[in-house]
Amino acid sequence: MFSGYRFEMIVGCMSAGKSSELIRRIERARLAYLPTIILRPATDTRSKPNHVESRNGMTSQAIVVEECKDILKYSSHAVVIGLDECQFFGDGVVEVIQTLLRQKKKIIASGLDLDYRGKPFGPVPELLAMADRVDKLLAVCRKCGSDFACRTQRLVHSSEQILVGDAQYEARCIHCFEPPGEYQLRLDLPKVEQQVPTLVLAGVDAAVEMAS
Ligand SMILES: [Zn+2]
Repeated sequence: MFSGYRFEMIVGCMSAGKSSELIRRIERARLAYLPTIILRPATDTRSKPNHVESRNGMTSQAIVVEECKDILKYSSHAVVIGLDECQFFGDGVVEVIQTLLRQKKKIIASGLDLDYRGKPFGPVPELLAMADRVDKLLAVCRKCGSDFACRTQRLVHSSEQILVGDAQYEARCIHCFEPPGEYQLRLDLPKVEQQVPTLVLAGVDAAVEMAS
């Protein structure tokens, strides 16, 4: 049915343009009159309900799925399927994509390849191995301004692998990336409010001072 790639992966760090590239490719399939659908996991709370949004303002309708087996249910009428934020779908997504490929569908998937520690993220490494086209996008490093950011730097204390929210992260190049252990050691500890002893003035002196 299709010529060309059947399973495409778009990966990279945050702010690399993964979602906008996914939307762009799905729009092209729509121009070719192919039935399409975009699905994203419920874990991603950045976009408004039933949409996928890129940071540069591109938006497209999307179905939010709670479990990755629901992907099969929602995509039965589509022939080109976009999957955003694949790292949050869980390991079950590998089997789901294999099933879709057996059904002769085309899959375009995007997601973070590495987590905040710089370690491979969830099912993404396996998906990368299965894909027949892989594009690794780079962002602008928020520390040095270079064009080669490939890591997602977490800016707050937390050892949870999944901590959703753009404010807690920034894109960094490999030279500026600080793995959590090293970074967190240098974070300022919360300042303890010191009680400064106050001299309580009593009697006539205090009254005089107040009046003056
Ligand atoms: Zn840098």
